[in-house]
Amino acid sequence: MIVTDTHTHLYSDAFSEDREAMMQRALDANVKRFFIPAIDSSYTESMLQLEKDYPEYVHLMMGLHPTSVKENYKEELAHVEEMLAKRKFIAIGEIGIDLYWDKTLLENQKEAFKHQIQLAKQYDLPIVIHCRDAFDEVFEVLEETKDEKLFGIFHCFTGNVEQAKQAISYNMKLGIGGVVTFKNGKIDQFLNQIDIKHIVLETDSPYLSPTPYRGKRNESSYIIKVLEKLSELYNLPHEKIAEITTQNSKDVFGI
Ligand SMILES: [Zn+2]
Repeated sequence: MIVTDTHTHLYSDAFSEDREAMMQRALDANVKRFFIPAIDSSYTESMLQLEKDYPEYVHLMMGLHPTSVKENYKEELAHVEEMLAKRKFIAIGEIGIDLYWDKTLLENQKEAFKHQIQLAKQYDLPIVIHCRDAFDEVFEVLEETKDEKLFGIFHCFTGNVEQAKQAISYNMKLGIGGVVTFKNGKIDQFLNQIDIKHIVLETDSPYLSPTPYRGKRNESSYIIKVLEKLSELYNLPHEKIAEITTQNSKDVFGI
C-alpha cells in the first residue's frame, strides 16, 4: 500500500526539532509521496533543503499563498516567476483567496490568483487552491479562467455537496484531510455522493490534525486517520482507498 499526502508543509518550523523522526513515522505508515505547497519567498530556501534531504519522496510546488499577499505582492509574484523559469516544479500552489483573516486586500488576492493561474497554464501545471471564507470569490475567478488547460486540486475542501460538484466542474479534485474526521466537519455527511475518482488525500500538516489528534501538531503519518474515515464512508478497504487516491494524485501531478 502506498499513501499520498498531496498537501503537507514538511519544511515548517513546527518540525525543526524532529523532522527526521516525523518523516520516518510517515514512511513506516506507507506514506511515501509528499506534495509540498509553497507559501511565499521566505520559505523557498527551506523547501529546497527539504528536497535535498528527501529527493525520492518530496515534490515541490511554487506559488504565493493568499495570506501572504501584502503590499509587496508584486515582488513576491516576481519571485514565483523567477523560480519557475529556473527549475521544475510539480504545481502552482498554494494560491487562491482567504477572507478569514483580512478582507481589505481582496482585489489584490484576486489579481495574484489570476496571475498565477496564467502561469500554471503557461507551464502546463496544475493549480492547488486555498479557499477560506471565499467560495463565491474563488468560483468567480475559476469561472472566468476555466478552459481545457485549467486543472488541479481544491485543497482542504470543506464546502457542501453543491460546492463540491462545482469545484469538480472546473477540473478540480477535492483535497480531503482532517476535517472529514471532525464531529462537526459536515463533509462526512455527503462525501460518498461524490465519485471517489475526484478525491485526493492530504494532511495540510502541521495544521488541521484529524481526530484523535485534533488541536495538536499534525504530521503526514496521521493521514491514515483520514484514509480510515474514507474507507468507512465509501465502504472500501484501506488498500483500495490508498490505491485509488494515489492514482488520482498521479492523474493531477503527472507523477
Ligand atoms: Zn497549506
